[in-house]
Amino acid sequence: MSNNTRPIDVIVVGGGFAGLAAATYLARARRKVLVLDTGKPRNRFAHASHGFLGQDGRNPMDILADARAQLLSYWNVQVLHDEATSARPTDNGFAVTLASGQEQVASKLLLAFGLHDTLDNIPGLQERWGRSVLHCPYCHGIEFSDRPLGVLYRTPMSAHQALLIAEWGPTTLYLNGATLEAEDAEKLAARGVAVEPARVTRLVGEDDALLAIELEGERHRAIEALYVAPQSTLSSPLAMQLGLGIDDGPMGEMIRTDNHRMTTLDGVYAAGDIARAPHSVSWAVADGVTAGTSIHRNLVFG
Ligand SMILES: Cc1cc2nc3c(=O)[nH]c(=O)nc-3n(C[C@H](O)[C@H](O)[C@H](O)COP(=O)(O)OP(=O)(O)OC[C@H]3O[C@@H](n4cnc5c(N)ncnc54)[C@H](O)[C@@H]3O)c2cc1C
Repeated sequence: MSNNTRPIDVIVVGGGFAGLAAATYLARARRKVLVLDTGKPRNRFAHASHGFLGQDGRNPMDILADARAQLLSYWNVQVLHDEATSARPTDNGFAVTLASGQEQVASKLLLAFGLHDTLDNIPGLQERWGRSVLHCPYCHGIEFSDRPLGVLYRTPMSAHQALLIAEWGPTTLYLNGATLEAEDAEKLAARGVAVEPARVTRLVGEDDALLAIELEGERHRAIEALYVAPQSTLSSPLAMQLGLGIDDGPMGEMIRTDNHRMTTLDGVYAAGDIARAPHSVSWAVADGVTAGTSIHRNLVFG
């Protein structure tokens, strides 16, 4: 049977770090793979991705472009720039409808469509996301070593985040009108983290650079990086449509999977940020490899 007439073994929804890693392993296992991707990885706002072995400091879109080009050198892979809008089980596997109107069918389905972040609506914040407004000190912290750092309070976990961020430089927790538990206030004081209770009105800076945080009463405090915890949700409704188990993880919604990254529906797998916490490119790639090899074994052994 030629590759054109051969049925697709696996549809991968999402061609980010997890999806491309899984597709690479499946391609090397001589399986026919279709990757659907809308081209909006979660870290697209950052100029540089850090911590991924051998790729430190590269633009994340360049890392993905190289991965996609290498994947496309396999004869058994197709990548479509298209959105999966719905999915349903069929007698032999799954059918996925695309925004372009096509329907594609495959034996197995891998969901790797990533998360969507919602940020606080503070002027000057969203446009600096991934540059001087940060979510993760391991990804972007050392670039702001020993500069004035801030943590914006969003949940009780923000106090814990401020205790950690102090490792990278002098830190202030901006409560933005919230109140602290007495126990947290004691821990922050013992660690030398300052606490500012006032509401934050805007962030002040030049282009990507952050210079100050403005508090109510037009008071300015010097700051060069602000850590925020976004509200993260699944970026596609497919998991809900398929009736998959979804948990409240420590960093937002998480599709429930077993150690092989199989979801609660036989034949549907999930990998990357949507199925784990914490999140990073390295972990997403590792997850993709786990899912890819698990799907292959499932295709072979049932
Ligand atoms: C601002 C920021 C900076 C970061 N910096 C770093 C860093 O420096 N180092 C690091 O290790 N980690 C970093 N991360 C974390 C990293 O971005 C994620 O852990 C990683 O992108 C997760 O990979 P993923 O494959 O699960 O999802 P993603 O990389 O988000 O990929 C998901 C893909 O699925 C596509 N998609 C979504 N819905 C559909 C659909 N219905 N149909 C088809 N395609 C769809 C999207 O367009 C996207 O291309 C950062 C995160 C943020 C928010």
